[in-house]
Amino acid sequence: MIQINDDLKIYFPLKLKPREQQIEALEKLKFSFNNGLRYFLAGLPTGIGKSYFTVMLMNYYKNYINKSAKFDILTNSKILQEQYIKEFPFIKNFKGRANYTCDPHDTDCAKGFEICKVIGPHCRDDCPYEKAKKIWQNSEIGLTNFHLYNTAAIYAKKIIEGRDSNVLIVDEAHDFESVFCDFISTSLSAKSLKNYGFNLKEIEDLDRTINNIKKIDQFVGFIKNQFINDIIDKNHWLEGAIQKATPKLRQEYSKYISHGETQKARFDYLITEYEKDSKNWILDITKIKSDKMYSGVLLEAKPVWGNNYIKELIFDKYDHIIFMSGSILDKNLFSFITGLEPELTYYFDVPSTFPINRRPIYYLKLGKMTYDEKKETFKTQLKYIDKILTKNKDKKGIIHAGSYEFVEWLQQQYINKRLIFHNPENRDEMLQKHIEADYPSVIVSPSMISGVDLKDDLSRFQIIIKIPFPYLGSEKIKMRQKTNKDWYSWKTIVDLIQMYGRSIRSHEDYAETYILDSSFSDVLRYNSKLIPTWFSDAIKILKV
Ligand code: SF4
Repeated sequence: MIQINDDLKIYFPLKLKPREQQIEALEKLKFSFNNGLRYFLAGLPTGIGKSYFTVMLMNYYKNYINKSAKFDILTNSKILQEQYIKEFPFIKNFKGRANYTCDPHDTDCAKGFEICKVIGPHCRDDCPYEKAKKIWQNSEIGLTNFHLYNTAAIYAKKIIEGRDSNVLIVDEAHDFESVFCDFISTSLSAKSLKNYGFNLKEIEDLDRTINNIKKIDQFVGFIKNQFINDIIDKNHWLEGAIQKATPKLRQEYSKYISHGETQKARFDYLITEYEKDSKNWILDITKIKSDKMYSGVLLEAKPVWGNNYIKELIFDKYDHIIFMSGSILDKNLFSFITGLEPELTYYFDVPSTFPINRRPIYYLKLGKMTYDEKKETFKTQLKYIDKILTKNKDKKGIIHAGSYEFVEWLQQQYINKRLIFHNPENRDEMLQKHIEADYPSVIVSPSMISGVDLKDDLSRFQIIIKIPFPYLGSEKIKMRQKTNKDWYSWKTIVDLIQMYGRSIRSHEDYAETYILDSSFSDVLRYNSKLIPTWFSDAIKILKV
């Protein structure tokens, strides 16, 4: 049992003075841990100084709770990882292979690894990725991102074994459960079969089976009774063939083998967990654009909830866990979603300190973007999108399109050279184009809800075409709504707050937000208890 020293002094290890919100948060954290709680939910919006608060709480923890404590800090983006390291170089950062440079093969360590594994040379201890991993494994304070951490926690446990940290600190915590769920989800399509090294005939045969799968039990049965064996057989064949192959082919085969091994681990996890609790798994079936040869069906096996798995695989290993985000919104809901015992959880939040006049939300009631009304509403929206763009003719901005359907509509029905569109494949490239453009570009995106930093002149206005309700065409979303009704509203508001935050990044920053979907009225009417007042106070209804 951890002994807690009651005599709290605020430790602020740096020259700067702590902000009053940071002191208050630390007092609450002390109170909660003193009272035997394990989880601390820190509702801290952007601008409060979450990374400073992290250092304060670690300092307090080492001085008053456990002087030999080790900490794991997680973020959801590389940008935030870089920010932590810039401010606090004593934190040891660990990223995915692709972020390190492989000198011997003049590429990154992800590509270099595929080469050195089968062709050589392999520099082992001198590999920058391996070095960073070792430093992170042995560090007192280790930082990594959700993706790498989930890989280590679920499929590559060797990476994390022996770290034995006491405290987990999760930044951007509102996203943690959904990223985790993506990690334990598996998918299959004819297109993806190429990545295992299957030949055309094999793909055709498998595609016929894939096309006939309609339910989750059929999917799991197929994976368990056939597909896992297909992967094993294929990998055996590749391992044999690699010996005699040309260097180029060896590299290709090595990539297939790695892919097969990774996917096999994911399928094994699915089979084990499905057999324990089949009701928590669903199959989403999507028609995708594919070449004419194949059915174009994408099968995705997903957990309805990730909460129990996260708790067992991750949280149970730590003494204390701290979650930080500006959109936690509700203690009981967040606890349920993330897998925390509410009776061991303390929730504390503070309002945004960004001046309200720098972040107005203009609400224009132009009609709803529901299935029945969207075409009509969109026509009206076009006029106002044009007005907003004209008003901001010298400024960059973003249009949150809601879905690729509306991206396409806009592309077809509104010609404006300032607009930059993207598809799922070139999202980062088009974002970069927007950032570098020397004209007032406007990026149009359905997927820049979070993790994108459009600070200062990169966006002075943002248009929300559609309220980001979760997509009810998904079996997973339907099951979630069925088993926890409040989640749907929570997720909508979290995404709305995150969208709002893309263009206002600091106290000096400013941007106008325009909401053009009348379904916003329903969100305000039925979910007022979830909406922070610092958000609702910024809303101004404009006459149309
Ligand atoms: S071990 Fe050496 S050769 Fe292999 S990826 Fe790392 S740096 Fe490249």
